[in-house]
Amino acid sequence: MNGQFSETLKGLKLKATPKRLAILRLLSQESTYVSPEEIWQRLRGRFGAIGLPTVYRNLEELAAGGVITKVIHPNRQLYYFLCSNRHHHHHFICVACRRVEDVDVCALNDLEREVDAKIGGRVLSHIVQVNGLCRSCAVAAAGSGEKQ
Ligand SMILES: [Zn+2]
Ligand SMILES: [Zn+2]
Ligand SMILES: [Zn+2]
Repeated sequence: MNGQFSETLKGLKLKATPKRLAILRLLSQESTYVSPEEIWQRLRGRFGAIGLPTVYRNLEELAAGGVITKVIHPNRQLYYFLCSNRHHHHHFICVACRRVEDVDVCALNDLEREVDAKIGGRVLSHIVQVNGLCRSCAVAAAGSGEKQ
């Protein structure tokens, strides 16, 4: 696992520091998105003196390199998660239980072409994050009579 992460980091010209590797290992064990503060809490045991700004910076670098994905939650808090699917795809995030699911369909090729034509430039990429309630959270919300 560490070897694979080291290779990924090398490909991005990021040094495979123990902190970066620890962050990647931690995220790889999670099936949900995690806040920088939570990552910091867990790393403090191993890197006693690690500061929250260091965790923020490392997360930003990893996200900028595309190793991890940033979640912008409707509550305006920032979260991160690691997805090993390297093909172009998007994510559904559950705003209640923090579950993340791959959305393999991307219907934005047509949109990109339209924008190309309209702008007269060239679209390079797009970011899509689908927010909602996962199946079990939707059932739970319906059961409690809550309308989301
Ligand atoms: Zn959920
Ligand atoms: Zn994914
Ligand atoms: Zn897409």
